[in-house]
Amino acid sequence: MVTRECDMRCGICWSFGLPPAQSVPVAQKLEMIDIVHADGVRKVIFTGGEPLLEAALPELLRHAKSKGLETWLFTNCMHMRERQAEILPHIDRISISLDGSTARRNRKAHGKGQFERVLDTLAMLRTAEPEFAGVVQVLTVVTRKNKRDLKRIGKLLREQKQGLRFRWKLNFYLPIGRFNRRYQLEYRKFRQWADRTEARFPDIKVYVSPPVHDRAYLFIMPDGAMYTTEGAKYVCLGNIFERSSYEVEALHEIEVNMTKKGRLKRGLPEDGLG
Ligand code: SF4
Repeated sequence: MVTRECDMRCGICWSFGLPPAQSVPVAQKLEMIDIVHADGVRKVIFTGGEPLLEAALPELLRHAKSKGLETWLFTNCMHMRERQAEILPHIDRISISLDGSTARRNRKAHGKGQFERVLDTLAMLRTAEPEFAGVVQVLTVVTRKNKRDLKRIGKLLREQKQGLRFRWKLNFYLPIGRFNRRYQLEYRKFRQWADRTEARFPDIKVYVSPPVHDRAYLFIMPDGAMYTTEGAKYVCLGNIFERSSYEVEALHEIEVNMTKKGRLKRGLPEDGLG
């Protein structure tokens, strides 16, 4: 989480359950990358808040690439147009949130203008080679509000994905951080909607999230505090700069859950992060 700042207040956001965190200087953020790399991490997701609000993001991405790390960017796309030139050459995958088939429907989950920015970003990515030739993921959190819109979102994405290495991720709404009954959909129903959508769009790579993400993520906050999730709660594991503050075994457990082998063993999709 390169920053906690965000210019949106989406109802489905996970980050509200985390305490505020002061950002450390860029040198220490670079050091975080060194630490995770030395600990054997091979893939880092740059997220937030909105990561494009972090001025030093290109430097962080460049540093991660220089270490041989695979870099993913999760963004709401609001600042992609201005920052694309300095960002795109350093990322392997981009994940974009989209939760409605029109600007009005998408506003039920996100802020005003985000739908247009997503389409603008997808248009830009379609012509971004050679700077960017990575995977483009559109992430849709399936909720009570947008489940009937999935068919229209799929039709929209069918047009938008042309020329892209594309996948569509359907995420189960987990009330992590704060609970919002208006979005809640029980997993059985989520699965029915997701399976129906997958069958309806055989020409789109659709990935469906599992019902639990317990200890399958390691979030590193802008101040170095590390969190994972258990059920709908965040659990603090210590601070990355203080080795004595955390149990290495706890990190190892997450590492297993994050690897393809570990995830398959737990019945999770092999690369289901995000
Ligand atoms: S754009 Fe992302 S980080 Fe910002 S409020 Fe929405 S879900 Fe949360």
